[in-house]
Order: sequence, then C-alpha cells, then structure tokens
Amino acid sequence: MENQIPAAVQLTENCAHCNTQAKPEDTFCTQCGYPLKGTEAEQNIFISERQVEEIDIFTYNKTLRQASNTLYYLAGIFILSGLVYFFIHKDDEDVVTVVITDLIMAAIFLVLGAYSKKKPLACIISGLSLYVIVQVLNAIVEPISIAKGIIIKIVIIGYMIKGIKSAMEIEKIRKEKHIA
Ligand SMILES: [Zn+2]
Repeated sequence: MENQIPAAVQLTENCAHCNTQAKPEDTFCTQCGYPLKGTEAEQNIFISERQVEEIDIFTYNKTLRQASNTLYYLAGIFILSGLVYFFIHKDDEDVVTVVITDLIMAAIFLVLGAYSKKKPLACIISGLSLYVIVQVLNAIVEPISIAKGIIIKIVIIGYMIKGIKSAMEIEKIRKEKHIA
C-alpha cells in the first residue's frame, strides 16, 4: 500500500519534474534545475521550457538519423561503384587497387554510420571531411568529375551539415541541463 504524501512535503522529498530525491536545503533540483522553492509560476515556466526543449531534441534527433543514413548511403555507393568498376575494368591492371580502395571507403562509412549513434558529432564531421577530401582528390585527377551528380553531392553535404548543427544543438541543451 502506498501512502499519500501531502504535496508540500513531497516537494522537499522528490523533484516534481524528474523525481530525483531533494534535500530540504536545496533551492533547485541538483539533477534538472527545477526550482524546488520557486513560485508556482516559476515552476510552470520551467516545465514548459523543458517541454519545448524536448520537442527540439526530437527534431534534432530526426536530422541526426538522416545524417547517419547518409553515411550508410555513402557506404552503399562505394560498394556499388567498386562492383561496377570491377565488371567494366575486369582486365585492367589497376582494377584490384581501385576496388579495394572503394571497399575500404565503404567500410569506413559503415563504421561511421554505426558509431554515429554514440558519437554523432565526431562521426558526421569525419564523414563529411572524408567525403569532401574524396571529391577534391577526384577533381584533381579528373576535373570534370566535380560536376557528376552535383545535385546528389549537394544533398549529401547538406544532410551532413544539418546533422552537425543538430548534434551541436543537442550537446548545448544537454550541457545547459547539467549546469542548471
Ligand atoms: Zn529534478
């Protein structure tokens, strides 16, 4: 049987926002910054601000997933282009080098995609840098390559930049929460 604790007593026991145990002398919750001894208006403002943040985090997470998917998509592109190159240039001397390079790139993007769930900012920045370096190297070897699939390239870079921005915003919100 659970005892009904009066609201005034509960306030000093547990945080009404995150349910962390609070000491009677705490003015703010040590976990989430909820104004334990604030006025009702202050407490309501705190709750509504946190709700807005949660909606923001939800949106940012969606953008992050798109960036992660872009990394997987790039892995797929490298596998595909390796296979296509292999079947077209089967008898060339450098076929093995090109195909292995493509497969290594695919493996790197697969790892970045998988690991981006844990470390989104680092993985997406690495992925974007690597992608840009590959494009620049291709452009040096074959200048016309820069124009090939330019729309897709812009979309890929766009998704990753949006992902980087979202990862930064999420980190900012999380930091503010812990400081509060
Ligand atoms: Zn709290």
